[in-house]
Amino acid sequence: MSFLNENFLLLAPNYLFADVAKKVSTYKAQHPDADIISLGIGDVTQPLCPAVIEAMHRATDEMASAQTFRGYGPENGYAFLREAIARDLSLSRGITIDADEIFVNDGAKPDTGNIQELIHHHSVVGVTDPVYPVYLDSNAMAGRTGADVVYLPCNADNGFVPQIPERHIDVIYLCYPNNPTGTVLTAQQLQQWVDYALDNDSIILYDAAYQAFITDPSIPHSIYEIEGARKCAIEFHSYSKTAGFTGVRCGYTIVPRELTAATHDGQRISLNHLWDRRQCTKFNGASYISQRAAEAVYTPEGKEQVQKTIDYYMRNAHHMLHTLRSLGHEVYGGQNAPYLWMRTPSGYDSWQFFDHLLREANVICTPGVGFGPSGEGYVRFTAFGSHENTAQALSRISLTANH
Ligand code: PLP
Repeated sequence: MSFLNENFLLLAPNYLFADVAKKVSTYKAQHPDADIISLGIGDVTQPLCPAVIEAMHRATDEMASAQTFRGYGPENGYAFLREAIARDLSLSRGITIDADEIFVNDGAKPDTGNIQELIHHHSVVGVTDPVYPVYLDSNAMAGRTGADVVYLPCNADNGFVPQIPERHIDVIYLCYPNNPTGTVLTAQQLQQWVDYALDNDSIILYDAAYQAFITDPSIPHSIYEIEGARKCAIEFHSYSKTAGFTGVRCGYTIVPRELTAATHDGQRISLNHLWDRRQCTKFNGASYISQRAAEAVYTPEGKEQVQKTIDYYMRNAHHMLHTLRSLGHEVYGGQNAPYLWMRTPSGYDSWQFFDHLLREANVICTPGVGFGPSGEGYVRFTAFGSHENTAQALSRISLTANH
């Protein structure tokens, strides 16, 4: 008889966005003429920039000739991309990361989910609440649930800053700028977490998928801007939101050589080496065309073009923040992140307000409670729409508020 990995039965039956999609499709079936605008799922809407498109065309042409054709590439990415990333981290953020500490992948989601394979089964995992669901679900699939998970509530009372826990945590997931709240941590707040990790021999898994949206120059873009982080942190990057790669698929993970974890007999083992071993076994590299596309993001034209699209989305974010606040809503985020986190009006919980907006404004948001218990009473809006759709959604929301 084949037995199941019963950990899967501990998961919520659906991924959050599948629940949202189901509700929306039911509504659409009942109202086929409804013109629905999504400010829900965090997917981009603007096209790839010309520098990226040209690089992809060139790479495709190389695939068409036996002389330049590429088959399997290096599992952890071509040197041209790893070196471009390392150069850019040094020039733009002043941090030194070697190319062999960079693991190119097909986006941050798989690595943020897979990284927990490196840690002991009985590790205590800390996550912020609300949280990007992948961290929790991937640990649940590996059997880490219940008492093995420590929730760090982030709410208006603590300014959405996770407080250093009293109990020991082995592995802490931090995501800044944060999905879903759109809030950030200052260098000082991040330093407290790095100090905690160093004092407690813990590992920080730092998701920097939205670092490109930071506009305040005092906010760190990378945990390696913080002293001591190379000894305790792994960092995840993605081109998905930075450069519109949600459908292209490319990202990278940084595992510094200094980062080690202990065996039961007291040896310290390099996680860089283990992650390399894991990736070479289970991953066969991101596509050549995607990696050439990612390389183009670092050219002078690419940088300028990508920044224009980020500015485009951030104009939406500022417009949304201003409008929603002027309607009297309590709204967070949206200044250094493409997400806004809004308290639901009194009398509505997250799903009730989701239903209300869908019905009355034909606008989709994401119910905050889907990101964890502390998300109850909030909804998330994304700034990834077009200017036109965002303006239209805001004016419909304004009309519903006036009723
Ligand atoms: N990390 C966070 C916090 C995200 O919000 C997302 C995507 O929404 C990802 C990682 C995954 O991004 P990718 O498209 O690179 O897999």
